[in-house]
Amino acid sequence: MANVDTVKKVRDFVTPFEEFGYEVSNGWIPICEKVEEKIEEYNKSHSDAPIEIFQIKSKFGELRVYLMDATTGDDIHTPEELKPFIEEVEKEARETCEWCGSKEDVHTSSYRGWIRTLCDPCNDELRSR
Ligand SMILES: [Zn+2]
Repeated sequence: MANVDTVKKVRDFVTPFEEFGYEVSNGWIPICEKVEEKIEEYNKSHSDAPIEIFQIKSKFGELRVYLMDATTGDDIHTPEELKPFIEEVEKEARETCEWCGSKEDVHTSSYRGWIRTLCDPCNDELRSR
């Protein structure tokens, strides 16, 4: 199995994940860490076809995880085996404040053109700025 450094030399681009890491606010970082750990675990049992995070971000108040073939850099759909996990973390994100990580009174709403998932106190703070 090629190690990651070798793969990076073969690929001719840098992924958003390599460049920016988790493109989310603090409250969702633990969820992103969980995704990264899960991918590492998946690769241990799929060393013949490893995958990699292409980008992980908050978009329209939802967590989006984009994966790619770690060897070729091609976009891939979420492998069947990982679908329940990804659905679970997406659901968790919808119920977690993007800013503070609270699970209480969390809602997704739009403010000044940005859709965010925030708890009531963080929403109040946003709107009082
Ligand atoms: Zn909050």
